[in-house]
Amino acid sequence: MRLEENVPLAPFTTIGIGGPARFFVRASSVDEVREALDWARANEQRVFVLGGGSNLLISDDGFDGLVLRLELRGITIENGDEYPLAKVAAAEPWDAFVSNAVNRGWAGIECLSGIPGLTGATPIQNVGAYGQEVSETIVRVEALDRTTGLVTWFTNGECAFGYRSSRFKNQERDRYVVLSVTFRLQRGGAATVRYPELQRYIDENGIALDDLRGVRAAVLSIRKRKGMVLDPADPDTRSDGSFFMNPIVPSPPPGIDMPHFPAPDGVKLSAAWLIEHAGFHKGFVHGNVGLSSKHTLAIINRGGGTASEVVELVGMIQRAVREKFGVEILPEPIFIGFAA
Ligand SMILES: Cc1cc2nc3c(=O)[nH]c(=O)nc-3n(C[C@H](O)[C@H](O)[C@H](O)COP(=O)(O)OP(=O)(O)OC[C@H]3O[C@@H](n4cnc5c(N)ncnc54)[C@H](O)[C@@H]3O)c2cc1C
Repeated sequence: MRLEENVPLAPFTTIGIGGPARFFVRASSVDEVREALDWARANEQRVFVLGGGSNLLISDDGFDGLVLRLELRGITIENGDEYPLAKVAAAEPWDAFVSNAVNRGWAGIECLSGIPGLTGATPIQNVGAYGQEVSETIVRVEALDRTTGLVTWFTNGECAFGYRSSRFKNQERDRYVVLSVTFRLQRGGAATVRYPELQRYIDENGIALDDLRGVRAAVLSIRKRKGMVLDPADPDTRSDGSFFMNPIVPSPPPGIDMPHFPAPDGVKLSAAWLIEHAGFHKGFVHGNVGLSSKHTLAIINRGGGTASEVVELVGMIQRAVREKFGVEILPEPIFIGFAA
């Protein structure tokens, strides 16, 4: 195990913000993960598991503990029939796996094209976009229980998936290290298109639903327009993607005409609409951070931005939405190294 000290974390995040890790270690096997966890226990250090850093806000003071950077790689195809099972190691880049599946003609994750980060993180917040969520295709999550050191498997039902949530993000946050995720895809299947904007694009461009490459290209094109595909040449992509989740409320605020969509426990409101109508426009600037000029939901680092500035901006937006609409909007990224 090669232990490093005082490693700057900003370069490991897509928003490019965050102080150093007191200790830092890379693990490319289950034994190395165990070794790192044992070391942290023996040295009374807290542990943070780092994936691709695309859903994190790390404090300017960094993380006073051990950051465990997962580097487990490999994809195994377990079943060759109509529904192939792909067991994907935690550190496989998500979008490369999506591209691989699409190129093989395997349907089920095509609308999740262009999402940064690693596959092991996808069950954590039940990654979703354009009407599709990983919970629709995940059949098994293999994880190491940090409390016992044992490897355990969760079926889909045991993951307690919800909108941007799972047992790994909520009920048992920080208990498991996801080692691999197994997806059940459909060979020769058609794309699942439920999102009106994507449907329109597909219709306008004459893309057939069983043309998974065409559907992937459509998703990437729509996402690029919104600065939602990482691109070093596009400063609007120096972000965590959507910073706020769409709030789910029992019913829309009375007397205000706003977009709302049916959700299991009430109605889902549009966080982007609420933010815009609370006075924060695309391109809003707050010091060295701000809102993307292409997407109201994305907080960006304009260069030299700090976590304190992001926290201030988040507070300003939340307050304005609360005062104007009486609705609470919550951040989607995980905050690391802040006082509880
Ligand atoms: C431009 C952009 C667009 C985005 N678009 C979308 C989108 O459309 N839909 C969407 O859902 N998200 C989106 N995201 C958010 C993000 O990409 C996803 O949440 C992604 O799954 C995070 O993966 P990661 O590897 O970067 O995780 P990290 O940011 O490194 O970690 C996120 C959390 O998961 C935990 N974690 C990571 N890996 C593991 C593991 N193996 N075991 C246990 N815990 C782990 C971390 O401890 C942390 O709590 C976007 C982000 C960006 C920057």
